[in-house]
Amino acid sequence: MKFETLCLHSDEKKDEWGSITHPICQSATFVHKGVDEYSEYSYSRLSNPTRRHLEKLVAKLEGGYDACAFSTGMTAITVATLILEPGDHVIASDDLYGGALRLFNNICKTNGIEFDFVDTSDLDKVKKLIKNNTKLFYIETPSNPLMQITDIKAISNIAHEVGAYLFVDNTFLTPYYQKPLLLGADIVLHSGTKYLGGHNDTLAGFVVCNTKELYEKVLFNSKTIGGQLSPFDSFLIERGIKTLPLRMDKINQNAIQIANYLKSCNRIKKIYYVGLEEHKGYSIITKQATGFGGMISIEVESEALAKKILKNVKIFQYAESLGGVESLITYPMLQTHADVPKEERDKRGINDRFLRISVGIENVEDLINDLKQAIYD
Ligand code: PLP
Repeated sequence: MKFETLCLHSDEKKDEWGSITHPICQSATFVHKGVDEYSEYSYSRLSNPTRRHLEKLVAKLEGGYDACAFSTGMTAITVATLILEPGDHVIASDDLYGGALRLFNNICKTNGIEFDFVDTSDLDKVKKLIKNNTKLFYIETPSNPLMQITDIKAISNIAHEVGAYLFVDNTFLTPYYQKPLLLGADIVLHSGTKYLGGHNDTLAGFVVCNTKELYEKVLFNSKTIGGQLSPFDSFLIERGIKTLPLRMDKINQNAIQIANYLKSCNRIKKIYYVGLEEHKGYSIITKQATGFGGMISIEVESEALAKKILKNVKIFQYAESLGGVESLITYPMLQTHADVPKEERDKRGINDRFLRISVGIENVEDLINDLKQAIYD
């Protein structure tokens, strides 16, 4: 079955009513068949039929062994990193979603995990950081918000040579455009809040594992910690996935046109979009993914202009998050990356002139006209 069909028809068989949509099983607990006789479901923290259906679907879409669904992307990342032990060393990309950086720098470090952060698009730099206790390589590609591209196959080879795991946050491209597990990653993470759900109405997270061994570890930690996705939210994310390919293609087309428009604006000083041929990672992304997605970051000529754009946009909405049908624009310095120290942000270009755009599915001329009036009027 091809990807688009799988998004709609992952079921081997229908339920007893022949439902077209997989029903919501809103039950916290399940009756045991008898003393010492268990059925597949006993308690919804451990497993729930609606969530399980979605987990199997996401695992299939990513080409993984199995998946666990959580109430947020951050819960997914937190539970996945619990496979680490005190004394383990992690090599992570220096450009990551701010929440992941906050988790690593505050909670994981306190728990005795060591971190080195580096531009993982530069594999020579990555290799130099390997230590005897290196246990995990952690990347986003494209990364949030600087859109760095890391060669997944190459970094997975480096990780596996030293007996370490590779985790890839695949939120920005989704399995429709990129399947890191098939390129050697051990775990794929998602903020399902973004493109998988796609409608800015639900928070969700996924850990998709490549092996039974890793899945069993993650499952054990998940049933111990909690934070699983609720049945209703599982239903909403599954509904979102039905249109994932359509949305991604429209978003991708819109984003290419918007990036080209922004290139022609004299008041925009820098554009970070992986679909532009001049992007440093273009040759790698075209090798490992089939699309570029809808995330564009820009540096404008002044702080005043950045603020004017945020104030003047009418169709783009000034809001956090990304990946939904509505186009959004954010100010990473004040939002997603507010907890990253200023000198660290400035060094990397996440300054008061830096904006991040999540392109939605609106008419592209309307979107371009909206940006035009916000920049020039
Ligand atoms: N990963 C990426 C790339 C993100 O952008 C985000 C949130 O913006 C997360 C993970 C965290 O996901 P959530 O907000 O669902 O907890």
